[in-house]
Amino acid sequence: LKPLLEISGLRTSFDTFDGKVRAVDGVDLEVYAGRTLCVVGESGCGKSVTARSILRLVEDSGSIDAGSITWHGDGEPFDILSLDPRGKRLQRLRGGDIGMIFQEPAASLLPLRTIGAQLIETLRIHTGLDKRAARARAVELLDAVGIPDPKRRIDAYPFQLSGGMCQRAMIAIALCANPSLLIADEPTTALDVTTQARILDLLRDLQAEHRMAVMFITHDLGVVAELADEVAVMYLGRVVERAPVDELFADPKHPYTKALLASVPVLGRDRGRDLPTIPGTVPNPLHRPSGCSFHPRCAEAVAGKCDIDAPTEVDFGGGRTAECVLYDTEGARA
Ligand code: SF4
Ligand code: MG
Repeated sequence: LKPLLEISGLRTSFDTFDGKVRAVDGVDLEVYAGRTLCVVGESGCGKSVTARSILRLVEDSGSIDAGSITWHGDGEPFDILSLDPRGKRLQRLRGGDIGMIFQEPAASLLPLRTIGAQLIETLRIHTGLDKRAARARAVELLDAVGIPDPKRRIDAYPFQLSGGMCQRAMIAIALCANPSLLIADEPTTALDVTTQARILDLLRDLQAEHRMAVMFITHDLGVVAELADEVAVMYLGRVVERAPVDELFADPKHPYTKALLASVPVLGRDRGRDLPTIPGTVPNPLHRPSGCSFHPRCAEAVAGKCDIDAPTEVDFGGGRTAECVLYDTEGARA
């Protein structure tokens, strides 16, 4: 399998009043053509910043300090981080090769323009269709994402549509140019459960139809179980475990992954019972713990070891890795 997108050693930081915060601290990830990578972790783990770094959407308030993000689309691979931030290639990548949807439709839908105007403009930038053809295509796209009566709704303003419908309109815009990769940052988090399920179904259908790769950012392991082929678990700016989805659920290696899985309600079993939660809170990235940054919360931490040395990545083979001292370099329990 050849990756479509390859992130290597990515470091992204933000200046705050209290100092420099390294939100992403050495991330390696691959996204494969036609497959879904779910990036999961608690809020503040750096998953959104990782996603936004791919399209260079962090640079007004932050900086990308190290690493490479290689795009292997059609043609010669190139490092997205070496592109001119105002150049044509980055523009073509955003909304062209790579579509992006966010938790809040407001982050990408303009409140004072109709859904149709926004769709038509994006279509014209990325596909070169004339106005008439773009309008016809826009109606098709609204229909494809399940917006009823698209010929009428195309002239609606975002405030005239429900949250779920706005989310669908945002997906239509992201799909305009037939992207090879769709980045979705918690796109269903703000929706009720039924609408959330419908949007996930829609994304799955669209992915199968367009053979897109999807990078799905979420804190919800239920969503991971439904959508993912591959999973990356993030904690405090690092990927602490990677695995094919079935293996992650069946045999989690990293204590943080185990704790996350233990905190998920299993239908039936846990109903009406207090859910276990992971003790402690995510530390402030300004005051990163020494050694393994999970050690203050880890049930399996080894005193005199985990609080001193940062663990190196163990490669278990078959796309499985974990950063934890509990395994030796061959992946056996140390
Ligand atoms: Fe826990 Fe130590 Fe592994 Fe970190 S390295 S996850 S503290 S056992
Ligand atoms: Mg986020």
